[in-house]
Amino acid sequence: MLNRRNFIKAVAGTTIAVPSILSANESVKKDIKFDEIADVIIVGSGVSAHICAAYLAKNKVDVLMIEKMDRMGGNSVLSQQDFAVLNSDLQIKAGIKDSEELFLNDLNKAGAGYNHLEHSLRIIRNSNEAYEFAKSCGVKYADKLKFLGGHSVARSVETIGGGGACIKALHEFFLANRGRFKNETKSDEIIQDENGKVIGISVRENYRFDRNLANDDRQNLSGVKKNYKARLAVVFATGGFSRDVEFRSIVNPRLRLAKSPSSLGQTSGALKQMLKIGAIPTQLALSRFSFGIPTEDLIYGIMVDVNAKRFLNEDGDRQGLSNKILAHMEKLNTTSYPTIIFDSTGFANSHDPNRMQSFIIAGKMKKFDTLDELANHFKLNKDELLKSMQTYEDGIKNNKDEFKKDLSKIKNSSMSKAPFYAMTAAPGLSYTPGGVYADINMRVLHISNYEPIKGLYAVGEATGGVHGQARLTSCSIPDCMTSGIACAKDILKGV
Ligand SMILES: Cc1cc2nc3c(=O)[nH]c(=O)nc-3n(C[C@H](O)[C@H](O)[C@H](O)COP(=O)(O)OP(=O)(O)OC[C@H]3O[C@@H](n4cnc5c(N)ncnc54)[C@H](O)[C@@H]3O)c2cc1C
Repeated sequence: MLNRRNFIKAVAGTTIAVPSILSANESVKKDIKFDEIADVIIVGSGVSAHICAAYLAKNKVDVLMIEKMDRMGGNSVLSQQDFAVLNSDLQIKAGIKDSEELFLNDLNKAGAGYNHLEHSLRIIRNSNEAYEFAKSCGVKYADKLKFLGGHSVARSVETIGGGGACIKALHEFFLANRGRFKNETKSDEIIQDENGKVIGISVRENYRFDRNLANDDRQNLSGVKKNYKARLAVVFATGGFSRDVEFRSIVNPRLRLAKSPSSLGQTSGALKQMLKIGAIPTQLALSRFSFGIPTEDLIYGIMVDVNAKRFLNEDGDRQGLSNKILAHMEKLNTTSYPTIIFDSTGFANSHDPNRMQSFIIAGKMKKFDTLDELANHFKLNKDELLKSMQTYEDGIKNNKDEFKKDLSKIKNSSMSKAPFYAMTAAPGLSYTPGGVYADINMRVLHISNYEPIKGLYAVGEATGGVHGQARLTSCSIPDCMTSGIACAKDILKGV
């Protein structure tokens, strides 16, 4: 672990000249006419953008925030914004003993050694400051702590009203502190001076995202081109690329088959702008899946593929199960997702049957009185389905499962008692852990010499390597919040 950190420190200290790359870069332009000017330009309007903007605006910095979509907030407004905080007022009030070491262990376990330690520590050590700052800007948190999967103690606070309410409060604070905002304004290119310092961006105003295009970044020509100048810095708070099927299929072919619950604007265009001027691409092949229902309940049912055959042990975490599902679909050469089936006993045994009921009300899960109805609805071969269910139930009786499920965990579940409940098992790519590499002050480093690209910062999900193999639940928000504030503080050093 320490070796990884030492490596970054060591390479960051060396100076390798990079003029060849910079002089070849068409972004280095002279005599540009600028249409707008601000101290800091922030690209994106999610939680990382807003917290950074709020901190800067509070410190009297002139900030212009731009957003390419008509609606502000990216994935941040879709999120429930559970927020892991070390030693929050709520943890102290509840007498919960937490520590830097405990939190770090949890992050390292999820990250499986791919997470950069310095960023894990940045999140842990600054989470409470970020939470307090968000509160001071008007964000409201429930008076309770959540004990979420992968965390060794209850440490996650719940944002009242979720991401929508959080962004609304931060936006109001930002505007009240003279912040400026433009939507439907898309950053297209980073502008550098002759020394490689980032001095602005080229944008299109009145840009209209087109959901019907296969690749909006490449095909959409809408809008009017303008140049914006940043006196101090440009901050990319542009989120991930989970909606960019073309790009994610290149960085990891398996991701081609995943669904995505993300905002439509989660494409790779902004990432490519940073890569074009020398940013370091980090861990782009990694993924983080969501699953539609709590994965701990899957153990009470069976999952069958498009041929109505069972193919895995349903007991697993969402990363593991999602990867197995996608691998199986690849093997069958199908784009059809498997079906999860519970009988009435499995349904009743789930951790929270009321929550399962809410999936039926929401239309995600369907209830069937007969197997015929279920098979027809999901276009499954009834005889094969019956065989799969019978084999599973025989396995329960003989205490031997063909996919080695630990049957002692599933109490008295069966697979034959109507009514039946079923839903599609579609792994959803909700978060892309890869992005550009930034130091702990969120300065984007150059691939040739690992030195900061002057004037360029990246925060939140736009950065890579922070979480590693699997992002721990409720840890994107502290990442977004602490990176936004770290970036703002670094910019303020130059004021
Ligand atoms: C359904 C769901 C639930 C979640 N729940 C949680 C949770 O409870 N806890 C947790 O920790 N995490 C959660 N997450 C993850 C977390 O919400 C996100 O990782 C986080 O909000 C990302 O914030 P961000 O500011 O980095 O990016 P975003 O909020 O995605 O904002 C990026 C913005 O940049 C804009 N943009 C991109 N390119 C350009 C461009 N070229 N020009 C102008 N604008 C551009 C985008 O349109 C977007 O609005 C959830 C995610 C989802 C999808």
